[in-house]
Amino acid sequence: MSADLKQRYQEAADTVISGMGPDALAAWHNTAVSTHFFASIKDVDAKFKELKAEKGETAGKGTTPAFTDVTGGKAEFYINGGRDTPGNPAKAAFTANYYAHEFAHAVDLHAGYSQKQEWHEAWKADREYIATAMGRKTEDPKEAFCDFAAHAWTDRTGARNGAPQSWNAWTQWGLV
Ligand SMILES: [Zn+2]
Repeated sequence: MSADLKQRYQEAADTVISGMGPDALAAWHNTAVSTHFFASIKDVDAKFKELKAEKGETAGKGTTPAFTDVTGGKAEFYINGGRDTPGNPAKAAFTANYYAHEFAHAVDLHAGYSQKQEWHEAWKADREYIATAMGRKTEDPKEAFCDFAAHAWTDRTGARNGAPQSWNAWTQWGLV
């Protein structure tokens, strides 16, 4: 991997970590065990399919640009070190958005924020904004939680103004 790519993913990770609140950081430190960086989304997708095959599972049809393996209650991240984003116009913070989304899976893993009633209500109120900000819709409260992280940990002002209910819940939980 080139020095340029390494620097970009370091910057993206720094952006995310600086946006995380104290409880998010604590949960992340307790759960995250390792991060695997890949030169491109294609490489991440290949690894995803390989791991699925090892487990005797079938991967979905689409390309998987990033994922988190939570086997054994610990989080192992597989993320892209670059910026190539097939079929998706690159945003300024695109790489950081992916990192934030995956890190949020680790934060949510044991505390189960995404399963709380407060989150379901906040998400209901803010879901249009969250979906638009992330450029995708999801019916899964866990994925929506991570999509909100992708925004909240990279653009505090935007997230606070655009998704006030979610922002409130996250403030109370110490996640931002
Ligand atoms: Zn996810």
